Amino acid sequence: MNTAAKRQPNRVEVPLLDLKAQYHALESQIMEALRAVCASQHFILGPRVQELEERIAAYSQCRYGIGVSSGTDALLVALMALDVGPGDEVITTPFTFFATGGVVARVGARPLFCDIDPLTYNLSPQAVADLIAKHCELRSGRLVNRQTGGTVKVLMPVHLFGQTADMDPLLDLARRHGLKVVEDAAQAIGAEYLGGRRAGNMGDIGCFSFFPSKNLGAFGDAGMCTTNDPLLAERLRVLRVHGGKPKYHHAAIGGNFRLDEMQAAVLLVKLRYLDQWTAGRQDNASAYDEAFTRVGTTVSVSTPHRVPGYRHILNQYVLRVERRDELKQWLTENGVGTEIYYPIPLHMQKCFDYLGHKPEDCPESRRAAMETLAIPIYPELTDVQRQHVVGTISSFYT
Ligand SMILES: *Cc1c(COP(=O)(O)O)cnc(C)c1O
Repeated sequence: MNTAAKRQPNRVEVPLLDLKAQYHALESQIMEALRAVCASQHFILGPRVQELEERIAAYSQCRYGIGVSSGTDALLVALMALDVGPGDEVITTPFTFFATGGVVARVGARPLFCDIDPLTYNLSPQAVADLIAKHCELRSGRLVNRQTGGTVKVLMPVHLFGQTADMDPLLDLARRHGLKVVEDAAQAIGAEYLGGRRAGNMGDIGCFSFFPSKNLGAFGDAGMCTTNDPLLAERLRVLRVHGGKPKYHHAAIGGNFRLDEMQAAVLLVKLRYLDQWTAGRQDNASAYDEAFTRVGTTVSVSTPHRVPGYRHILNQYVLRVERRDELKQWLTENGVGTEIYYPIPLHMQKCFDYLGHKPEDCPESRRAAMETLAIPIYPELTDVQRQHVVGTISSFYT
């Protein structure tokens, strides 16, 4: 026992995420699956990857799944498959993980950052409509950014924290302006929009991440693209292996975006439990919602807005709070793990200085970056742990 624990024998520890509980429950099944991969010595793009592609596609109501090396590579290869490159522009949110904007720049295109809805933190359809109305015009079927002369080709909403963006108005804007839609569904596997439509099946390509901290996490990096378009599916599959088809014949330049059998084997075991884990996260969220109301911190603490009719899968439970940085410090001192997703919106990142943005260009993103804090929501959280989190927050404000 360490000295800190000796001094405080009753201290409750609540990490932001504890993957060990999940692993211990599935250890024998996972080890058996991994042993089978070792016995086969077939490590790359084998039968388990194919089975995972079929299962994730079906789970996400899509015709095709293309397993790739990470969520970032899913986004990157999606833009490559849509021929996005120099002279092209991609409308997206600045309040997201870096990869969303990073991949746009990596293919040589320009990110067009558009502000978020302050309640859901997702791309605001109104902000996108305003940007198009103010700065763009249709020239022979192409949407052109008047300031840069670039072609706006793709709309890339992110389903942040496990809740889908408001897709109907976004899809309508895309349709009216000839834009392709790439969904960054990295945090949103199984999330549903109105009408039970799942993340990844509403745009042209959906992109998922199986990074260990996502709701369906591998034992390393892994990702998936989904689509309903057979031509895009084929293009993604070819680009995944350097653009070679047949092997060693390259009509296109791709990359090594392959998924391996070890990760697929782990994910196939875990996928069977995903709905049960999602239910656990939703139960925790409802219990938090009630507890914060009960302790009366609602003036200082806003709980996440879950839009009626959606299925929120709660990859993160993000509060908007007063004196965020002090609260974070207080929670750390009291054994509660938290994280700021995300402290610097992309339009304010140094690497995007060349876009010439001012912080106030996306005021809601900037405000969210200063006021939000994610608290533990993983399914194995106990009542005692949850009560400790709420008690520690309420003691900070009273
Ligand atoms: C995790 C994440 C990614 C990147 O996924 P990796 O598998 O880590 O490469 C992209 N976008 C969002 C919104 C994410 O949360």
